[in-house]
Amino acid sequence: MRVEFLGGVRTVTGSATLLEKSSLKWLVDCGMFQGGKELEERNRNVQHYYPEELSFILLTHAHIDHSGLIPKLIKEGFHGKVICTKATRELCEVMLQDSAHIQEMEAEWQNRKSRRAGGEEAGPLYTIKDAERSLQYFQTIGYDEVLQIKDGVKVRFQDAGHILGSAMIEIWVEEEGKEKKLVFSGDLGNSDQPIVRDPSLVKEGDVLWLESTYGNRLHKSREETIQELLGIIQKAIRHQAKVIIPAFAVERTQDIIYTIGQLIRKGFIPSVPVYIDSPLAISATEIFKRNSDCFDQETRALLLSGENPLNLPELIYTQTPEESKTINKDTRPGIIISASGMCDSGRIQHHLKHHLWRESSHIVIIGYQAEGTVGRRIVDGAKTIRFFGEEIAVKAHIHTLGGFSAHADQKGLLEWLSHFNNPRLEVFVNHGEEKTSMGLGELIRQQFHFRTAIPQWREKRFLFASEKEMMPEMVTPEKVVPEERVEEVLAHGGTWSALFRHLDRNYKKLRRKLKRERLKGKEFTDPRWLRQLEEINEKLEKLESEL
Ligand SMILES: [Zn+2]
Ligand SMILES: [Zn+2]
Repeated sequence: MRVEFLGGVRTVTGSATLLEKSSLKWLVDCGMFQGGKELEERNRNVQHYYPEELSFILLTHAHIDHSGLIPKLIKEGFHGKVICTKATRELCEVMLQDSAHIQEMEAEWQNRKSRRAGGEEAGPLYTIKDAERSLQYFQTIGYDEVLQIKDGVKVRFQDAGHILGSAMIEIWVEEEGKEKKLVFSGDLGNSDQPIVRDPSLVKEGDVLWLESTYGNRLHKSREETIQELLGIIQKAIRHQAKVIIPAFAVERTQDIIYTIGQLIRKGFIPSVPVYIDSPLAISATEIFKRNSDCFDQETRALLLSGENPLNLPELIYTQTPEESKTINKDTRPGIIISASGMCDSGRIQHHLKHHLWRESSHIVIIGYQAEGTVGRRIVDGAKTIRFFGEEIAVKAHIHTLGGFSAHADQKGLLEWLSHFNNPRLEVFVNHGEEKTSMGLGELIRQQFHFRTAIPQWREKRFLFASEKEMMPEMVTPEKVVPEERVEEVLAHGGTWSALFRHLDRNYKKLRRKLKRERLKGKEFTDPRWLRQLEEINEKLEKLESEL
């Protein structure tokens, strides 16, 4: 069978893997690229996802970097099923609409600019209507249930402990009478996380896709992190100041509500106003409350004792922009939680504009900040940040608290991997920045001796022995040059080695295609093909005799 890495490789966003077995094509995840113009340009053209030919999409969880291009694919002709857990479907309902809303607003803003410059207008990636319509394609599956799909393909979703409804996906395929198993870790949770359960363990597999967001880092313990947060809140209360927390609407926000609730319940801090300024976070919190069957034991015990783990004495939800504006008039010390988590869009930008320049304010970064985002620039120590055309000085206290992460750290990833019992396991390290994935890949090679690769964007490979002669050796990443990169090298003056690689690649591609066609029982009768091949051959011979 064939695989093509369409996203979430050497970057944390745009997760998507295309799998192809005979005439059956399907995707695991269909995420949006985020973090800069160049990367986001990839969201525009999805023809290489084969939207019309895809049979189904397996969705690990609701985060936009995994689900965000589903409405776009449906717009382009996908008409199969999106298979995911019930909580993922519910979260996607609000998250895809929120994403569509952002797309519409951005397109409008861009078009206004473009009109003024006399340029052309472009539509949004998809609209709120497209997002709504896409929900009818969703089909839910329970955790641990085995679903027989088509042509010998079976799947099972197990709890990944990352966000509500998140799953790792096991896929069984039949290859020449033998059963093979693919495993997608999805985003793997942090076993210290409250509310959701710990990640499930998998022992068997032939090929694994392993995320690596924090493959180069160790989180501080949850206990230490809570102590740090406590210190920050106490200081803000003493100075009548505000704590601003940019948070992903799903999971991080609920985690913070839960944690502040525990600090108040235990008497460590007095009750302070906590604003949840994100309509998406409000809807997500409601979905959490409806899906308490996904909670871990501790949270369920709290529920049973009559406490609502997602409630606080002074929890203030602000739905409308008008309500949101009143927050800045409140002079009491307090906490503002708002999205987006990477500070790239949404109401958090207004709060940052209002507080970044104040020396007494505290900005607490709790989630992953991808390269190219505003959040990353703040963490990296930018002196000023531009919001809505205005340069804002960064004077506030900036804190980064890794222990609230919804991702396993390096130790957690390796521990999870250690449960696999197949010494011939092949591992694709994905969902991480380039250096991080490479570093983790190296560690895995050293510790477990598994064959490991860090795929490139748009790289294609064959899996399993029957096609061994067609399968390039699992090589270290430096040796793999994707077509785009080859073209780039050629464009910049060109080198002999790049030319030969290009030639080799094209020849192999052609052979593979011809072989595949023959396997399908096709005879080659088109005389044009034959003539063209003869011509190429003649040219090569001529060139060779000239050299
Ligand atoms: Zn995620
Ligand atoms: Zn992700």
